[in-house]
Amino acid sequence: MPINIDRLWKRLERLAAIGADAAGGTSRFTYTPEYVEAKDLVTGWMKEAGLTVRTDAAGNTIGRIDGRNAEAPAVLLGSHIDTVQNGGRFDGPVGVLGAIEAVQLAVESGILFSHPVEVVVFVEEEGGRFGSSLLGSRAMMGQLPEDILQRTDKNGVTLAQAMKGAGLDHERLHDAVRQPADISAYLEMHIEQGTVLDSLGRRVGVVTDIAGPFFLNLTIRGRAGHAGATPMDRRQDALVAAAEIISAAESMARESSSALVMTVGRISVKPGAINIIPGEVVMSVDIRDVDKGRRDNAAAALRHRIGEICLSRGVECRVEELLNVPPVPLSARVIGAIATACRELGLPEKRLVSGAGHDAQVLAQFVDAGMIFLRSKNGISHAPEEWTDKEDIHWGTEVLYRSLLALAK
Ligand SMILES: [Zn+2]
Repeated sequence: MPINIDRLWKRLERLAAIGADAAGGTSRFTYTPEYVEAKDLVTGWMKEAGLTVRTDAAGNTIGRIDGRNAEAPAVLLGSHIDTVQNGGRFDGPVGVLGAIEAVQLAVESGILFSHPVEVVVFVEEEGGRFGSSLLGSRAMMGQLPEDILQRTDKNGVTLAQAMKGAGLDHERLHDAVRQPADISAYLEMHIEQGTVLDSLGRRVGVVTDIAGPFFLNLTIRGRAGHAGATPMDRRQDALVAAAEIISAAESMARESSSALVMTVGRISVKPGAINIIPGEVVMSVDIRDVDKGRRDNAAAALRHRIGEICLSRGVECRVEELLNVPPVPLSARVIGAIATACRELGLPEKRLVSGAGHDAQVLAQFVDAGMIFLRSKNGISHAPEEWTDKEDIHWGTEVLYRSLLALAK
């Protein structure tokens, strides 16, 4: 296979060393000195690959090579190099470095694209610093909320201040917006972060849809009381109601035949004492599916069930909607290009959905977008143990390269 996997692997290792933390992972947050150092390193590799590099008003790094027709809409390849706290070395970087490798191989092979090709490094994909994930891609597609510049990191630094620190002018943030007509397609290679490919022994997968998260926050109010002196039939125990709701959510998702998943990952109990009946519980529910109608119906059914459970237990429940991102189907044209590349390489064509969010889901709302997934060992990500074999990255980058040629040549 023509991809220079050793060059790509060495670059991955060098990138992982920037922001390496004592726990064996990588912590590299947007606009920090570590981020700028990593961005500068990647910029150098982009130039080596023959790309002309610029930074847009949001801080996205964009390397571009013109095709025969400079006016044609560009084919974008990309991902991110920011991480979560104590994250891994593959989530994001494989997509960026794989894209640079694909373009570099094309240039070295004397291939002239007909479309311009761009490699994009999106800022703050993880939301690890400002809790505002997919920031760079949302800036590019004009999807940022009004108050975004006032968001703060854990030290109270606003996004506006952090941008200034990284040499960006926050007042020009809007200049990052691009017209969908200028983008022909977006293609992203990423680790799966799940166990589908690993359990099937497949190296590469073709993503068909990206699930959208729907977050609820529940506040359940019962009545606190003495654990010894209150008989069982006289209680309004908020935590027992919560337990029943958690169990109901799990059953609903398990019994569904679709990609529906429900998770309660955060819960707090008041007063939280060994000998007091819980009076109040605050908890989250994360509901995802690749079909918006099905996901919203599931959320409505759960809310109905919550109402029944709370009524029967004599407790009150307030339900708030924290986040509602629509799920998106990826483009049949891009999926077709990736699937054809897999077939040409003799890779079994495994189609799967992405449960996690990616910049591709923002782009997919406006332009043809697609994703290539790479096998994640044991499905682990966002941890130092995150791992994808060199061989799998080699195959995935071959698929990326062939898909790029199909879309841009
Ligand atoms: Zn990622």
